[in-house]
Amino acid sequence: MSLTDFRGRLDRVMAENPRRHVVVLALDGVNLAAARPCWPSADVRLMRAVSPTTSSACWLSSLTGLGVDDHAVPGVVFSAPSGGPALVNFLDYHGAGLTPAAGNVFSDAARHGRTPLAVLGDMEHYGSAWRDALLAHARPLAGHSFYTEHGAYRRRTSAEVAARVRTAVEETLARHGGGQPCLLWCYVEVDQHVHRHGYDSHTTDVLTALGAFADALVARGVVVVAHADHGLVPTVHDPALADLLDHMGQRHGFTMGGAGRMRWLYPEDRDGGAGLSARLRAALPRDVRVMPADRVFAPGSAARGRVGDVLLVAEGEKFLTDAAYRYDHGSFAPEETDTPFAVWR
Ligand SMILES: [Zn+2]
Repeated sequence: MSLTDFRGRLDRVMAENPRRHVVVLALDGVNLAAARPCWPSADVRLMRAVSPTTSSACWLSSLTGLGVDDHAVPGVVFSAPSGGPALVNFLDYHGAGLTPAAGNVFSDAARHGRTPLAVLGDMEHYGSAWRDALLAHARPLAGHSFYTEHGAYRRRTSAEVAARVRTAVEETLARHGGGQPCLLWCYVEVDQHVHRHGYDSHTTDVLTALGAFADALVARGVVVVAHADHGLVPTVHDPALADLLDHMGQRHGFTMGGAGRMRWLYPEDRDGGAGLSARLRAALPRDVRVMPADRVFAPGSAARGRVGDVLLVAEGEKFLTDAAYRYDHGSFAPEETDTPFAVWR
């Protein structure tokens, strides 16, 4: 199963349970290996992420059912949808033309006669054209945060995080779940913790507590689904690599987009990136893979048009990342691509 199958799978869950509320826990950054042992009572399947393994591309594929080539959001930093020379960050972009995506799990819910609800959670302060597209057709609900406070990472205990998720779901069901059944999607950015601490006992404790909460909801007749966008792998910032790329960028003329463990370069030379790729292969460490963008994004697709010609993909631990991070994502490691699709019935 791919993330692009999520929409269809959820549609089936909604169709098979017409009179029951469906609660979906959207757990950013939780991979299959971390989740499976914590959820013994759930049916847990592998759902493989799309590439690159970044939140913007993966969540949009999940909720719309479209691959990256079709929804056209290739990652974090990419060419402006207007086609101009500027690069945009998906979290800051408020303009038109970001994605042709139209239907999603929330329009499916409405078609089933359900109230489509999205607890913004840790997405509350990420207002953007991307979030508008992701949560189109849903009633957005503010006022709950789990791993953030006003949009910045906030460290809380596992008990606090789990209690906050329970409160968000319970309050939403009490307030909006009185009439027809609902689809309640709730965004929890576990990724904020994993970036800094990995899959430690905090993560395990939160996932275990959420599994127990799912059991309690099922006992009351609710169906619970959990899914994720991607996982993370150990990654440390390599200042020497950053300096080398800065230097080569000035000397050979390229700018950089992407994020995390996959970056793309926009060369000034109009040779499709061949010359730059050869220079990079000669200069970069062996565990930084240099590959043509056409290998990941379909030539001629809208997503391909927004990325540079040359990809840099981390294969080891040392790459470019935030100085505060110990784990990151964006590349092809199984710990990044293998995410859980879990159902408690
Ligand atoms: Zn993510």
